[in-house]
Amino acid sequence: MSSAPNPPSPSEQTLAGNPEVRHDWSLAEIEALFALPFNDLLFRAQQVHRAHFDPNAVQVSTLLSIKTGACPEDCKYCPQSGHYNTDLDKEKLLEIEKVVEQARAARDAGASRFCMGAAWRSPREKDLEVVMEMVSRVKSLGLETCMTLGMVDSDQAKRLAGAGLDYYNHNLDTSPEYYGEIITTRTYGDRLETLASVREAGMKVCSGGILGMGEAPRDRAALLQQLVRLEPHPESVPINMLVKVPGTPLEDVEDLDPIVFIRAIAVARILMPRSHVRLSAGREQMSESTQALAFLAGANSIFYGERLLTTANPQAERDRALFDKLGLHPERRETCTDDSRQQETLEAAMALKTGQSRADALAYDATLA
Ligand code: SF4
Repeated sequence: MSSAPNPPSPSEQTLAGNPEVRHDWSLAEIEALFALPFNDLLFRAQQVHRAHFDPNAVQVSTLLSIKTGACPEDCKYCPQSGHYNTDLDKEKLLEIEKVVEQARAARDAGASRFCMGAAWRSPREKDLEVVMEMVSRVKSLGLETCMTLGMVDSDQAKRLAGAGLDYYNHNLDTSPEYYGEIITTRTYGDRLETLASVREAGMKVCSGGILGMGEAPRDRAALLQQLVRLEPHPESVPINMLVKVPGTPLEDVEDLDPIVFIRAIAVARILMPRSHVRLSAGREQMSESTQALAFLAGANSIFYGERLLTTANPQAERDRALFDKLGLHPERRETCTDDSRQQETLEAAMALKTGQSRADALAYDATLA
């Protein structure tokens, strides 16, 4: 990493004192941020973070796989792709009652948002009807709702929004230049179109990427530049570390240096000052120190204590212990109809040190659900 980065541009100079939301960051500006001395970068990210968020609050969500495996897409990192032989147990679309039951358990254990993921290229009409019903039932429990169902057109997005869907997740994954090395069954443009449909329908956007897929440093900067160009910025930006699953084409790719990963979190925080930056897949493999650095760099959202779609996620007990150690607390939910009750529930769940049954309720295996 260069010890003599380019001098900051005028827009960068204003950043520390007056964090602003911009969509026109050049690649050179973003690369200059990546090249800052580590301490300078983290200091900048902390300044931006503190201007917009409670620095010790972390938003927590729960994630359930509602339809697992046999996906027709060929994303090289994904064990759910039907193109690769992994040990994954395939599951049909879950019954609505089962999803509602899991959502209720997640709410009672302290989650404020319930995310549901289906391994589809895009939802078929008959499936869309079912997931719309799931959304309205989960919403009626007082939870925020999020779904990831593959590509959606503007009509589908409007119907999901009408059913009460708050967030739609659709990741850009990597840079436009590297994208073809990772996925061939749909284009970068397809992804941007889905995000435009989601935004047009009035839903909040959750979009980020995966690092450690063999991409070059420039690809990491270019991914963040693509996210920054979205107007408004995605409300939620998951930054994932590749989980190398045996049987996928990326199972033997070289490990990404955790410091490079932390730099990417910090740069994302600076570029998208008002977005929640989510420390997402790959947390299981991270040391507590790396996770602590990620929070210091501006990450302020996690999936809490359960399994992340099909890969293991640190268990609830470890998360609670880490929150305690770092003095973190769950973020108060913005749109909750009864914030004080929700906050009490969240804090009670995070404070629970020995309730294994509660931990078990959170630590279900989405692939077996
Ligand atoms: S990442 Fe999503 S679209 Fe790609 S193979 Fe996996 S489930 Fe399918």
